[in-house]
Amino acid sequence: MKSILFDVLHNVTLLMAGFYLLGKLSPLPITRESPWLTRVLYGLALSVISLLLMQMTIEAAPGVMVDLRHIPVVVAAYFGGAIPTTIVTIAIIIYRFSLGTNLAAFTAFGFIVAIALGTSLIVREMSPYAKRTFTLVTLYATALHALVLWIVLPKQILLLEVMAVVIPASFVSSWLALLIIRDIRLTKQSLRMLRQKAQLDFLTGLNNSRAFNEYFTDVKQRLILTKQSVVLLTIDIDHFKQVNDTYGHEAGDEVLRQFANRLRDGVAESGYLSRNGGEEFSVLFESVPLAEVLPLAEQLRERIASSPFRLATTELPLTASFGLAAFDETTSQIDQLMPDADAALYQAKQQGRNQVVLFSPNAESAVSFQE
Ligand code: GH3
Ligand code: MG
Ligand code: MG
Repeated sequence: MKSILFDVLHNVTLLMAGFYLLGKLSPLPITRESPWLTRVLYGLALSVISLLLMQMTIEAAPGVMVDLRHIPVVVAAYFGGAIPTTIVTIAIIIYRFSLGTNLAAFTAFGFIVAIALGTSLIVREMSPYAKRTFTLVTLYATALHALVLWIVLPKQILLLEVMAVVIPASFVSSWLALLIIRDIRLTKQSLRMLRQKAQLDFLTGLNNSRAFNEYFTDVKQRLILTKQSVVLLTIDIDHFKQVNDTYGHEAGDEVLRQFANRLRDGVAESGYLSRNGGEEFSVLFESVPLAEVLPLAEQLRERIASSPFRLATTELPLTASFGLAAFDETTSQIDQLMPDADAALYQAKQQGRNQVVLFSPNAESAVSFQE
């Protein structure tokens, strides 16, 4: 009894270690929609685990060897879809027939195919992460395993003795396998979601300054490879403090949301729009020439100034000031782009607000655009 327990424990340990390593195959959870190469690799890795399990047999009764080769098939069908399931099923069948062609080999063939098809069918009909689903899959696999043994074992062997080992071992290991894989997948998903959330400004839903900095770093990296134009537009709402002072912070927040929406609609996909803090925003344009950004900036200014912002109790006309710097028309060093755009914005404020100013290395001659 003790040696059976150890055998089972070895199998379960191999499964857990194998599935943990499997989780390292891809930073995203593997699904039917994963790239086909990832799914092929998943199938191959599961095949290796299956073949190892076939070496680590459990002596359920004197002379009766069983193993847990079907569990990677359950996992493939459960999470990965047809490609990995087919790969692992074929690997097991080829290996089994290489050992000999007899009734046991044909029964094993039927068993593995039934596991693959049955699991795929159950998962297609039910929610994959529900405990109910993997309890049902586990029950199905265990029952099938017991049925196969009942068919292949010589009847003089104590069937009950074998079942007393196979049923709990099969049930526990399959249930544990699905549980551990589900947990690894949920951890990956939450990590991805948190990463995405950490990049967004909670008030406006725009990219935040952290995301902007990362994006700007990427843009600079790309510049090493290809020389392209990079244009930065900085935007600051005029006299925004008065909105807060007059109508309260809540109203100020509502204005910021509406302001962000107007920018979002105006910029669309042409640039990387962020809220860099307070009532300051920016748009980073990659490979959009300055000649196209200038009229767009002017349209954005117009979009803000032309119609008032709607608050619960009033309508509020507002304007904003815009500063522009372009690599390498106005700015020859990319690291100077942000200070130069800020300097242009400052100048727009100085010149009376509600205007677009393009940075000029000689501040006296900075160009402003206003209709
Ligand atoms: P200027 O035309 O020179 O830009 O004047 P301004 O009043 O817009 O500029 P200032 O920098 O003096 O004021 C910015 C104000 O923005 C001050 C601050 O209370 C407010 N603010 C910053 N972040 C938020 C926010 O998240 N919500 C709200 N409601 N107000 C904010
Ligand atoms: Mg400001
Ligand atoms: Mg302001």
